[in-house]
Amino acid sequence: MIKIVGIPALVGTYDNYIWVLFDEHTAKAWVVDPGESQQVIDFLQQHNLDLAAILVTHRHFDHIDGIAALKQNFANCTVYGPELTPFNLIDKRLREGDQVTLSGDLSFQVLETPGHTEDHISYYNDHLLFCADTLFTGGCGRILGGTAEQFADSIIKLRNLSDDLLFYCAHEYTADNLAFAAYVDPGNPVLQQRLKETVINYPALHDGKVGTLGLEKQINPFMRFDMEPLKSQLLAKGSAETPAQLFATLRTWKDHVDQGVENIN
Ligand SMILES: [Zn+2]
Repeated sequence: MIKIVGIPALVGTYDNYIWVLFDEHTAKAWVVDPGESQQVIDFLQQHNLDLAAILVTHRHFDHIDGIAALKQNFANCTVYGPELTPFNLIDKRLREGDQVTLSGDLSFQVLETPGHTEDHISYYNDHLLFCADTLFTGGCGRILGGTAEQFADSIIKLRNLSDDLLFYCAHEYTADNLAFAAYVDPGNPVLQQRLKETVINYPALHDGKVGTLGLEKQINPFMRFDMEPLKSQLLAKGSAETPAQLFATLRTWKDHVDQGVENIN
């Protein structure tokens, strides 16, 4: 049986999670987006795990800076990543539709999800989705290399995946994201319930219990940018009625709140 934990990284600055999947029976582990290495090495050694592979979603340093040290410590590890990435420590480059088989009972499909960056990919199977900085709990990544048009397309791709998928993102920005979500979508009862139930233990080791993609579809404004009640608000802010423009207007709105241009408290 595969277990999953989230190891905090870049705590206090970027608040990343490095997701570690492991099988105690075979003593194999797989790591997603190691932006740092020492805490991953410590965890693997403490649990007598060998690192079999690293999955990379995109080129940002907070997702890749631990890879060189991990490769030095675990000689057998294969690094998977986007075909389109400029990052050069990738052993196997992936495009949309490719399948990554990590073990007899662990494999992923690749989805190209550009927008946050131009090279971003996500990994999913029948149960799990690792979408890094494309979609966060209650929010999404900023546009740092891709375009709003790509981002809107990528979100719609994720929206078409199964509601049952357990959803693993790369940053602990939940409190901030849900505050913005409640500001722009105050009448959403599922969101209000989610706010009440949310407990954040960061930077403790994340035990891997996460929400579903179906829940995100109900509460995350960036999954709902082209639906009411968000759409009317975005049109009132001057957005054209295209997915790219609606998404861009919502993203800019959140950026203004993050920058203190607009105060939501
Ligand atoms: Zn990023």
